[in-house]
Amino acid sequence: MSKYDELVVAKMRELLKSKFDQEVDGNRGEILAAASKLDTSEINELVFALRRIEKGVYGQCVICRHDIQPDILKLNPTARLCLSCESAMNDKTLP
Ligand SMILES: [Zn+2]
Repeated sequence: MSKYDELVVAKMRELLKSKFDQEVDGNRGEILAAASKLDTSEINELVFALRRIEKGVYGQCVICRHDIQPDILKLNPTARLCLSCESAMNDKTLP
């Protein structure tokens, strides 16, 4: 799972730079510290993803507990749902 860890931290660094104009060139700890001062949903999602990596449940769908497809995680490292649950959710929220 360490590659996803790196992916999430890289996303965090990107977000800090593009959205908050903060250049953090340090390690994961420094990036996390800078990020935790900002309370935005995007940062929170990334912090949440890191916690899931630490707990060893990253990449698991929060609804059905099946593995989320790696392609989805690459595109969206904060994904919490597998494809079928995601589309089931979308069906429900459509008018
Ligand atoms: Zn699922």
